[in-house]
Amino acid sequence: MIVVIDGPAGSGKSSTAKAVAQKLKIQYLDSGALYRAATLIYNKCNQDRDKFFDTLNEVNISFKYSDAFFSVFVNDENISTQIRAQEVNNAVSIVAAMPEVRAYVNALMHEAVEHDHYIADGRDLGTAVFPKARLKFFMIADLEVRAQRRLKEMDDQNISLEEIRENIASRDAIDSSRDSDPLKKAPDAIEIDTTSFTFEEQVEFICAHIRPHLETAPKQ
Ligand code: C5P
Repeated sequence: MIVVIDGPAGSGKSSTAKAVAQKLKIQYLDSGALYRAATLIYNKCNQDRDKFFDTLNEVNISFKYSDAFFSVFVNDENISTQIRAQEVNNAVSIVAAMPEVRAYVNALMHEAVEHDHYIADGRDLGTAVFPKARLKFFMIADLEVRAQRRLKEMDDQNISLEEIRENIASRDAIDSSRDSDPLKKAPDAIEIDTTSFTFEEQVEFICAHIRPHLETAPKQ
């Protein structure tokens, strides 16, 4: 069974999905981390598209969720910290708009979720990647609240609230307007505005929806 959470940057999808996965003892899949891994490769190729696609075809991107951590690897190198750098934030929406990259990441995800219960977060999971997901959620929050949350997460990096706000707003604009699988609420998704929800409330809201399905849904 797959449950998906989509929404704009900083809306709380990843931390909520991770907490839900821990509470319900199911698997977690961070699709944004896979686009970030592709972006790290793109940056290492000096943003040269030909070199990037050649490298993408040669390397092996893999991931693992264990002990509440989602880790991403390129070949055997753990790149989970590198993919959170500001240089990756700045380029990821450009890379994620490339249809070849979307096809690559989607194939990785489909392969992974076949044999277990998963909660995954992203932008297009409910509309394009898993249109038949058992449950779909769409999380939103005010831009200011989202920027403040990201600032807290990135307090080890030398970056201002203003820079974060601009990056989030520009990523949302690119993600929502691209031709390939834009950020969009699926008509059958349950919308959660996290501006005024506490973290515990939003986690429990989602868990309460999922619990009845865990008893009946096949692992696939
Ligand atoms: O979720 P996160 O902020 O880590 O995602 C990074 C970027 O990856 C997003 O801004 C978006 O450009 C891209 N993305 C996407 N589709 C997804 C998940 C992420 O295009 N399903």
